[in-house]
Amino acid sequence: MLNDGGLRGREQGAGSRGQEAGLRDTSRTASLSAFSRKQIAPLLFAGCVAALPTPAAAQQPAKKTAATSKATQDLRNTTLDVRLAYVRRLLRLTPLVDGHNDLPWAMREEKEKPLDVEAYNLRRKTKGMTDIARLRQGQVGGQFWSVYIPGDMRDSGYARVQLEQIDIARRVIARYPDVFTPALTAADVRKAYAQGKIGSLLGMEGGHAIENSLGALRAYYDLGVRYMTLTHNVTLDWADAAAGPPKHGGLTNFGKEVVREMNRLGMLVDLSHVSPGVMSDALNTTEAPVIFSHSSARAVTNVPRNVPDSILARLPKNGGVVMVTFVPGFVSQKVADHDAALNRLRDSVAKRYPGDNDAQFKAVAAWRQANPTPIATISDVADHLDRIKQVAGAAHVGMGGDYDGITETVQGLEDVSKYPYLLAELVKRGWTDTELRGLAGENVLRALSRAEAVSARLRKERPASTKTIQLLDRKITP
Ligand SMILES: [Zn+2]
Repeated sequence: MLNDGGLRGREQGAGSRGQEAGLRDTSRTASLSAFSRKQIAPLLFAGCVAALPTPAAAQQPAKKTAATSKATQDLRNTTLDVRLAYVRRLLRLTPLVDGHNDLPWAMREEKEKPLDVEAYNLRRKTKGMTDIARLRQGQVGGQFWSVYIPGDMRDSGYARVQLEQIDIARRVIARYPDVFTPALTAADVRKAYAQGKIGSLLGMEGGHAIENSLGALRAYYDLGVRYMTLTHNVTLDWADAAAGPPKHGGLTNFGKEVVREMNRLGMLVDLSHVSPGVMSDALNTTEAPVIFSHSSARAVTNVPRNVPDSILARLPKNGGVVMVTFVPGFVSQKVADHDAALNRLRDSVAKRYPGDNDAQFKAVAAWRQANPTPIATISDVADHLDRIKQVAGAAHVGMGGDYDGITETVQGLEDVSKYPYLLAELVKRGWTDTELRGLAGENVLRALSRAEAVSARLRKERPASTKTIQLLDRKITP
């Protein structure tokens, strides 16, 4: 979501998101079809298609087979067109599920017609990174639509804005019934995908929306929310955000009760944006798999929003998934260093010219002129996927582009039409089709189905929690 990278400019990537990018995509796909289908057909039928799991088997962690490995190994040194054609066939057999798209907030913030779902016409090319044609090009089969709200609302409590965002997302889904189908379970996503539609789930960002109330949490679940990011950038009464110094050292007792209640409900615990202390406490508390809906690997790009290796190493036991994000400042150390230097510069300029906006603007512009923003690439994003695969395993990766929540984009991943290009890069790096299917969507659907199974058990074992923050953290008895 906005503020994810501390990015304040739109210049980089804005030009490359034009109409021509989409046209290039289409012509490339069309021109290669006859040639490369013939080339890849034997590989597909030897490996990928024959090895496709039944729906039940797909719930299990991916297993390598000699056939599937050979299929992609043979493609490693082929051209991009051949690899893309392979990936496109794969995605006709496996739903691609993205973990985080901020379209509902983009609609709320649209300059001319804010909050207007009708005016923001997804059947046309939008100004943003998401519309129906590009979702189709990207072969998206499932989407967690983010119902983000800022952590610093001043004109009301959080719940009103949260309800409005859920309303926007639900109206978007309902407005295009030929494209989107509301999804509440992993099975719903598979069913929508089988009908050629995009299974549409809701993900809440972040925990301030519950206003310290487990009753509110349950009401959001009933409105269709299937994950909650425990914090956004603001530390809560019960959980530390990654941005800023830790206040609680992780989750408070009430924070742990929030996790337990989410487990009982069957709402995924999303650990993007939280501190490592919260990640660790949540993993110690949860009985269901966790997700990181839009985070990358800290060992590759050292920023607080990314996941440390010590946490990645715990995912095999938990069953969770890190959905790698495409935020330039989180996937490229060069961009991260540039952003940090720019922020330091802004602070120093504000001190040097207090109140003089014109002087501050000129000083920052001069610095930017002398220090152009580095470019983050598809290869940078693939490095994060390789790292997570190495530490946690390929059964624990996914993708959460953060499209329409960012102002700058990775070169080659400018909008929702581009996912296949990332998968094609991974084919070059030797990822097997089983691993690619896991990355595309099978891993996060497995995590969601397991969370559903845990919920079914816990709902029999215990009633809705009546614990309060006053009782657990402030020791005030009613
Ligand atoms: Zn975010």
